[in-house]
Amino acid sequence: MLYLCATPIGNLEDMTFRAIKILREVNLIAAEDTRRTRKLLTHFEIHTPLCRFDENCKETVAKKILQRLQAGESVAIVSDAGLPAISDPGADLVKLAIDAGIKVCPIPGANAALSALICSGLNTSRFLFAGFAPKTKKNRRELLQKLSTAEETIIFYEAPHRLKNFLAELAEVFGDRQAVLARELTKVHEEFLRGKISELIEKVSEPRGEFVVLVEGNKIAPLIDENPLDFYRKLLAQGLDKKEAMREAAKKFNVSRREIYNTLLREEI
Ligand code: SAM
Repeated sequence: MLYLCATPIGNLEDMTFRAIKILREVNLIAAEDTRRTRKLLTHFEIHTPLCRFDENCKETVAKKILQRLQAGESVAIVSDAGLPAISDPGADLVKLAIDAGIKVCPIPGANAALSALICSGLNTSRFLFAGFAPKTKKNRRELLQKLSTAEETIIFYEAPHRLKNFLAELAEVFGDRQAVLARELTKVHEEFLRGKISELIEKVSEPRGEFVVLVEGNKIAPLIDENPLDFYRKLLAQGLDKKEAMREAAKKFNVSRREIYNTLLREEI
């Protein structure tokens, strides 16, 4: 069995009884940062062998872990904090294990995105987890443009030194929407900052600690996108190329690209 085991995102009391039990019982714990995880294990008196499993070594380590799983051993993956495989290593190993016929078992617990969402005051019935936005400006813009029409609450992770710049870009692409910054969740200085994106930029003059950024979904889109053609033109105005805009519009209105194209031709004649 391969266990994906949640660990606290700040407050050690969020460690679950089951996580402690499983981490004591497995043959091996694969950890993103062995030094950090060793402290956690020492605190909970867990003496299971540890190995490093991070982005740099995941391919070689994954092979060894798979061999041990296939030999009948059990392994737990833990990340530095929260759920493994959520903006953390683990997802590739899960896929390999499933392909090899090995059972995968979640040991649920703390997660920054959902903890932030439930206290945000934003719509929790439909949401979209976007994780960390891409590092390059061009890719980040492209992603934000795609997300700007989503009607769901959107959840991002962001590092403190990039936060202000990220919020400024969000305001540019999304407009000055209602947003929430969830800071230092479960820790002593936990706080929720709520307001328009421009107000939040003012409030966090020198961002410190860990942040989840939540933005309300697009409320205007359904009103103004009366037909596929308007929507197509709006996407063009947002910077998408013709092909992408056509594909998105066709998907959203469940029509063929040809139909939109023909309407466009008719309008232009
Ligand atoms: N696997 C983790 C989870 O399940 O939430 C996420 C790991 S990701 C590498 C780290 C990011 O998660 C941080 O940059 C921050 O955006 C967010 N995060 C983690 N812990 C947090 C906390 N205590 N408060 C606010 N955000 C947190």
